[in-house]
Amino acid sequence: MSLLQIVKYPNEILEVECETVTTFDRKLAKLLNDMYDTMLEEDGVGLAAPQVGIAKQVAIVDIGDDTGLIELVNPIILEQRGEQIGPEGCLSFPGLFGEVIRYDYIKVRAQNRKGKTYIIEARGFLARAIQHEIDHLHGVLFTSKVNRYYEEGEIEG
Ligand SMILES: [Zn+2]
Repeated sequence: MSLLQIVKYPNEILEVECETVTTFDRKLAKLLNDMYDTMLEEDGVGLAAPQVGIAKQVAIVDIGDDTGLIELVNPIILEQRGEQIGPEGCLSFPGLFGEVIRYDYIKVRAQNRKGKTYIIEARGFLARAIQHEIDHLHGVLFTSKVNRYYEEGEIEG
């Protein structure tokens, strides 16, 4: 197990368009494994490769529900509908929480670590987490979508 260093804002890698993954090798598998260990260590529900200093279209999400770990390589949102409003945070912005509007439902096409294409549908908080991570892969940070920031203690951790 290797823990990776989380890139904190401001760092320009957080705001670049990430490169498409074309090689599905052991290096990618190790990156995904290390990202997972790092996300658990940091108590996150998602992590994108640029947050560990790698500008590639790789992200993981695990909100602790029955879905388990989702590995998103080159993800694309195919369908989206509805709206949800709720709190959001980011490991690259420690201690910062803001209210963000997201689609309530999304249908996403992505590849797994072996390059196999799959489709996943998500609603609610899982959909929120996936949208947050996909934004990272395009250099979009949640702070650009915040309606208002929460005061310390306003939301329970
Ligand atoms: Zn984030």
